[in-house]
Amino acid sequence: MASKKLKLIPLGGLGEVGKNMMAIEYGDNILIIDTGIMFPENDMLGVDYIIPDFSYILKKKDKVRGIVVTHGHEDHTGAIRHVLAEIQAPIFATRLTRGLLEVKLRRGNMLKETKLNTIEAGEQVQIGPFGVEFFHVCHSIPDGVGLGITTPAGLIVHSGDYKFDHTPVDGWPSDFGKLAEFGSRDVLALLADSTNADEPGWTPSEAVIDPAFDDVFRLAKGRILIGTFASLISRMQQVANAAARHGRVMAFVGTSMIENAKMARKLGYLEIPDELIVPIDKALKMKASKVVLMCTGTQGEPSSILGRLSTGSNRQFDIRSGDTVVLSSHPIPGNEEMIHRTINRLFQNGADVIYDPIAPVHISGHAKQEEMKLLIQLVQPSYVIPIHGELRHLKQHAALARDIGIPHENIAVVENGTVIEFKNGKMEIGDRVPGGYVFVDGSGVGDVGPSVMREREALARDGFVIVHLSLDDSSGTLRGEPEIVSKGFVFVRDAEELFEHARMRVREIVARGNETEVKARVERELAKFFYSETKRRPMVFVFTSNGG
Ligand SMILES: [Zn+2]
Ligand SMILES: [Zn+2]
Repeated sequence: MASKKLKLIPLGGLGEVGKNMMAIEYGDNILIIDTGIMFPENDMLGVDYIIPDFSYILKKKDKVRGIVVTHGHEDHTGAIRHVLAEIQAPIFATRLTRGLLEVKLRRGNMLKETKLNTIEAGEQVQIGPFGVEFFHVCHSIPDGVGLGITTPAGLIVHSGDYKFDHTPVDGWPSDFGKLAEFGSRDVLALLADSTNADEPGWTPSEAVIDPAFDDVFRLAKGRILIGTFASLISRMQQVANAAARHGRVMAFVGTSMIENAKMARKLGYLEIPDELIVPIDKALKMKASKVVLMCTGTQGEPSSILGRLSTGSNRQFDIRSGDTVVLSSHPIPGNEEMIHRTINRLFQNGADVIYDPIAPVHISGHAKQEEMKLLIQLVQPSYVIPIHGELRHLKQHAALARDIGIPHENIAVVENGTVIEFKNGKMEIGDRVPGGYVFVDGSGVGDVGPSVMREREALARDGFVIVHLSLDDSSGTLRGEPEIVSKGFVFVRDAEELFEHARMRVREIVARGNETEVKARVERELAKFFYSETKRRPMVFVFTSNGG
């Protein structure tokens, strides 16, 4: 047996849904699995997306032998440019996943200097000391893989995102045979997707969406707008099939939707005849009953196409009465409120909106409880480590593993940043490393820390007050009245008395002297004053000007 420790370092996706990233370390070698992003929750103001904190790897970047990407979804690929900007390691991905990564790298002008290796399910590749066997899994995007990683410390199986669909859209079921074969090879640990661990039963096949789409297409009199993720390639195929069956043509709306569809068609993962696709400007001039528009924005994101349509701020076209909008995706936990707001607004604008509980227009791409148990039974691991999910999902997954005979002490429920170590075939919980959020805001990465976020929250909640003091150069006394303006705090016309009291306070504070501290003192004391009077905490800014 090897003498060194094998370390599994979860950097994202454990304790949350999104930004999946895991590092596997043995001696001087690191393998990275997935580089995902997460979309912000609605209390993270002004944040575009969140990437994993991978500062642990930055200290050892010359040890990274490769980056394996399991499939093309944003929560596995979205941070690739941020990771490559720091760590220039070769990437290993299947053809479609590679194609979708290329779209991102080209946008960031990083395609040329990146080493991309195409792998195929069924293949084995040696990456440093790690022998990686790729096996096919079905999911809501074609060409997804799970990994069997032979390390000097033992065989690790990583499920990727998977489900056991016998009739998937692309006709290629998960590789049961390979999983059973792993089961005969003493698997040290199984790392498995926990997304649906609190849902009993078996995830229905993607095929059940087809009749649901047929119902929608039969009943819709006007335009049909389908909202989904730009990376849900299988769903695009199903919409195209339905469009063909019902005599409509389809148009893709939004850059990521257009680019991903183009790439998937070019590589043969999306089979849509040319005559079925029209550009959006042409679709908008056609008879409403003849078109389907594929849009982004199922999570209520204000900047997405559906988000903009719901608020009437889309440039190219508006929602009109007679439109049918289908939300073909599942709410990511935390987004429910925004999604419901979007749905309500779409209704207000005259659309008919069809979403998951109303009709089965979305089916999960992730395994439910019976599939998760089957996976463990097939792979027969010594240890089980639930990955991809909030803590409640990881806990439920652990309970399922216990139910089918994995001893409690052989299951590790950990969140991002908690290292799991294997030595001499034994599992131990290791050190804590950074595993938090890095906010990406506009083009800035990580400039927005928790203190900025707290300030944005305060501004959004209670607004701000600005105080201008004109001070005398020599005496430090006030020249004229303090000026006070506010936004988002109180209705100014009703607040004259409040502001008059505030001005009085300011005069008193300034009169107490000590000019150097005047700004800070006024800010502090006015904040207290406003809180005692209104029970609200506006941010108070003071600026001074001097004169003689
Ligand atoms: Zn996925
Ligand atoms: Zn995922």
